[in-house]
Amino acid sequence: MKNSTNSFLPFALPDIGEEEISEVVSSLRSGWVTSGPKAKQFESDFGEWLGGGVETISVNSATAGLHLALEALGIGPGDEVITTTHTFTATAEVIRYLGADPVFVDIDAATLCISPPAIEAAITPRTKAIIPVHFAGRSADMVEILSIAKRHDLRVVEDAAHALPTTCNGNLVGTLESDVTVFSFYANKTITTGEGGMLVTRNPEIAKRARIMRLHGINRDAFDRFTAKVPSWYYEIVAPGFKYNLTDIAASIGIHQLKKAHNFQQKRQSIAERYNSELAGLPITLPPGAAQGDIHSWHLYVIQLNDNTNTTRDKFIESMFDCGIGMSVHYVPLHQHPYWRETYKLTPEMFPVSQHVYERTATLPLYTKMTDSDVSRVINAVKNILE
Ligand SMILES: *Cc1c(COP(=O)(O)O)cnc(C)c1O
Repeated sequence: MKNSTNSFLPFALPDIGEEEISEVVSSLRSGWVTSGPKAKQFESDFGEWLGGGVETISVNSATAGLHLALEALGIGPGDEVITTTHTFTATAEVIRYLGADPVFVDIDAATLCISPPAIEAAITPRTKAIIPVHFAGRSADMVEILSIAKRHDLRVVEDAAHALPTTCNGNLVGTLESDVTVFSFYANKTITTGEGGMLVTRNPEIAKRARIMRLHGINRDAFDRFTAKVPSWYYEIVAPGFKYNLTDIAASIGIHQLKKAHNFQQKRQSIAERYNSELAGLPITLPPGAAQGDIHSWHLYVIQLNDNTNTTRDKFIESMFDCGIGMSVHYVPLHQHPYWRETYKLTPEMFPVSQHVYERTATLPLYTKMTDSDVSRVINAVKNILE
């Protein structure tokens, strides 16, 4: 089924306009290329975009943001953090950075997000925090998760790498009652800065600690307070910090991507709606939609092949590639990876829902630069292979 007449349709592509390009050029010409005025502006724009009342700390990746969040919450050796097996390894590796242990739990079949009853069953006296993931851009059940956290005095850090913009009960992810929310601006995410992320919190103590640890443990407050009295070369190190700051070059891209975020979401949603209507009736399970009245970011369009299909998931993906269409799988669950499997003695039987989804799942291309005919091409290929 090789199709050499069509060029390859990539799985994902960023949507960068002239505005982003000119802003980057202006940063380059300004002589200020690392964290400076553009990073500050991106942070304040992001806070306003969320509706105000939150502190925003730009970082060079969501992984960095998740690490800073757990560090600021005091997570350390002996602590347990509950998270989903159905995610990217970054969600869990940051727990290990601090010497704490992830406790992996299964997902809910209806949302593909972490299962609240599974969270509750995994709580021990060592449990300190929960990291839910808004899988594919559909909100996790935050009402239930926040209520579990409250009952057991646990902290909540949302991995919102897929969730811009996503709402839960009408509220944007980033404005909920969790302790910290972390967004990703990696190349394939709904908005991008190449590499980048944003840590969002309402807690001034967490914000203060994360700002210090983001840049080598330099106490900026002391720095700012005393600059009037002592020479500007003076600074103080108060902790062995990290190097997680976002550059002005990257922030320049983010400033303009953020302005387009709602437009991007509408484009993604209209592609998802076409997929939903034109793929209905095939032997596949369509992705979970948002709850009534909520926004799904549609970062990913994840289907599952039903057991009555004429092919396997692997062969399906291979046939899509043969049609010149880029595909992916979200995710190879963490319990399948050698490091996690061997360190925590994980088996597929411990995660029946995630395992079932994993064996049948495939992710179709979905991004704002797809044309109507690109979308038709994907739909026709899926139909040809499965009908
Ligand atoms: C992309 C992603 C991350 C990591 O984001 P980076 O900005 O690349 O560090 C974390 N969690 C999930 C679920 C992701 O998809």
